[in-house]
Amino acid sequence: MSATKHRYNGYKSFDYLGPGRHSKFAVSKEDDRVSPFFVPMTEHQEERLLKIIADNPVISLHDHLRVLPENITDLYGYYAAGRVHTGYAGIASSPLDAVFGNQVLKGASWEDTIHELGMRSCDAAHSGLLVKASGADDIFSAKQDGKIAWFPMIEHASCIGDELDKLDVLYGLGVRMLGLVFSHTNAIGGGLSEARDGGLTNFGAKVVSRMNALGLPIDLSHAGDLTTMDAINVSAKPVFIGHTGARTVWGTKRMKPDDVIKACADKGGIFGIEAAPHTTMSRSHKEHDIESVMEHFEYVKNLVGIDSVSFGPDTMFGDHVGLHRQSAAAYADDSSDEKFVMSEYVRGCENPSETWWNIPRWLIAHGYSDEDIAKVIGGNVIRVLKETF
Ligand SMILES: [Zn+2]
Repeated sequence: MSATKHRYNGYKSFDYLGPGRHSKFAVSKEDDRVSPFFVPMTEHQEERLLKIIADNPVISLHDHLRVLPENITDLYGYYAAGRVHTGYAGIASSPLDAVFGNQVLKGASWEDTIHELGMRSCDAAHSGLLVKASGADDIFSAKQDGKIAWFPMIEHASCIGDELDKLDVLYGLGVRMLGLVFSHTNAIGGGLSEARDGGLTNFGAKVVSRMNALGLPIDLSHAGDLTTMDAINVSAKPVFIGHTGARTVWGTKRMKPDDVIKACADKGGIFGIEAAPHTTMSRSHKEHDIESVMEHFEYVKNLVGIDSVSFGPDTMFGDHVGLHRQSAAAYADDSSDEKFVMSEYVRGCENPSETWWNIPRWLIAHGYSDEDIAKVIGGNVIRVLKETF
């Protein structure tokens, strides 16, 4: 599926070093690793799709543009080698105009974070496709140039320890969205996998105010419920819960309860639906696929309205389920009693390209108007970015 609108010259990560000079690890195929699935549509709907994505910005609130190693057991050696590949061919085949691209690997220290940010920025600067972006207007200029605006995002701020000024450094180096806490508690607040969430700390309140002052958007996807509510209340600006789902649809800690979803929307924030393996499943779709993902979307849309919801699919290129198996310890302890079918990949959302074609395809096929589709694939995000940047 690639009515490509991007100017892509076939660049592969680190090609500026010369062919084959950059990694001893073979990397995975990108958007053709498994046989793709696209939501069926009529010819007329296909034309509508191309017009909608030509006329409107398509923005991911959260995806990992990285390519995993072909052999997933090489994961930690590949990370340690410090040259994580970006899936340029894969994203070039997508309809995306902008991505909040998570770039930090789990448990990253300050040194690792700066290394990864510098290495990804260097690679992107040579790619001719990804443009490091700092403001909402960069989305429109990238779209016009057939390129993709990349907003570096960091999953969680643990790398700053208890040093507030490191936020200014991250902003200066181009970070444009920052999660407060990942599954495990840090100096800022409680993580969602903890038995008890102590809420936002005093230092955490200072972090929120500093991020407001910097114009650095706050993400709360992996924070505990109390920490999330506290951050929403303390923040002078709207926040993002950019990649998650509804706990009423699927009863795990990784999902958010209705009161948290409403509090985010009431503060003018955006709730993003994700599709990482074994997250946004549902009781009617115990095997994770585009249908269960969109079930979460419709639940949240009905709960808080179409203006407060968008998508942060949290997908990547390569064996994402294999990655979860390799790093099971790093992931949330989801001690819920929801029973599900373990699948090798999420049908219809296996990678960022397939996912971002299927989201508008599903919406068209399910009778959504062009105006509402434009809102949830990027318009809502633009509105809130202009308030937070
Ligand atoms: Zn995440």
